[in-house]
Amino acid sequence: MINIDGSLGEGGGQILRTALALSLVTGREIRIQSIRAGRRKPGLLHQHLAAVKAAVRIGAAETHGAELGSPELFFAPQAINPGQYRFDVGTAGSCTLVLQTVLPALLTATGASEIIVEGGTHNPAAPPFDFLDRCFLPILNRMGPRVKARMERPGFYPAGGGRIVGSIEPSPALSRIELMQRGVIKTHSARAMVALLPREIAERELRTLGSKLRWGAESLHTEVIDNSFGPGNAIVVEIESEHIMEVITGFGRRGVRGEQVARETAEAVERYMSASVPVGRHLADQLLIPMALAGGGKFRTLSPTQHTRTNISVLKQFLEVDVDVSESASDDWTIGVTTT
Ligand code: ATP
Repeated sequence: MINIDGSLGEGGGQILRTALALSLVTGREIRIQSIRAGRRKPGLLHQHLAAVKAAVRIGAAETHGAELGSPELFFAPQAINPGQYRFDVGTAGSCTLVLQTVLPALLTATGASEIIVEGGTHNPAAPPFDFLDRCFLPILNRMGPRVKARMERPGFYPAGGGRIVGSIEPSPALSRIELMQRGVIKTHSARAMVALLPREIAERELRTLGSKLRWGAESLHTEVIDNSFGPGNAIVVEIESEHIMEVITGFGRRGVRGEQVARETAEAVERYMSASVPVGRHLADQLLIPMALAGGGKFRTLSPTQHTRTNISVLKQFLEVDVDVSESASDDWTIGVTTT
């Protein structure tokens, strides 16, 4: 049994999801205590419970403590059962985070899977659908499996109601990859999405973003969404380089002007572009599990986040891995995963 301290590092939901993902893959039972102790409302919220329930079904797991608000969870998987599943977060909680909890186990499973997840698709502090589809999955597919995702309806906080469908064709094993060079930037573009809100919000955001980054109208696009359950706004920036696609997202929220959302997004874009490393700050923490399962890998990235450091600690509790984190310059770090 592996005991996980949920208050580690940032003490958030990622510790739970990483532990569930690795428990499924390794078949080792876990007990997690102090779940999300670092958050304002600790314990299991709807979106975390949805990830637990998804892991329970795919792993035919025995579990205790899988209840709303629970600070502790016991989880013992019995198998990995690929197949067709539908999971409903029940709120606007993130669909992509539920998918990411069960994805590692399904990448090398004995058969294909199709996973439908309903909830939020564009949530602050979670990978938006576009990041999953355009950044994370293409890298994962370079490791052997074929994973595709489509969004049937976007979902924003607080209404939710989004729906994504992931299809996974596993490969017998994952292959090692290295992401050490970005190469030249080939294209850049920004899309401001508005759902059930005035189009003018998107136009103001793009004006601010365009003038800060000195991008012309040909790179700036407005997307008006009319099939979501509730209002929402996000700015999705894609930077396509020779060797990688990075997706940087700014989320509109109540009480914050579009110009401010655009300025924050532009700052993140400037930081990535001037660093000249391939892997952005979010992809960095999400690459660690697949790389460890592939028996190693290496990438250059921006200064590591707390999430990245916490994921490394959790990873080491499950697998015999060394993770070397070294700094060449303030936003040029190399993270190397090796199996021992
Ligand atoms: P909690 O519910 O405890 O507040 P959480 O469940 O929202 O936490 P975190 O622990 O904050 O989860 O982890 C969020 C995950 O989402 C991390 O893997 C992070 O890299 C990823 N993420 C956050 N923002 C983005 C983004 N803009 N693009 C891509 N990935 C993101």
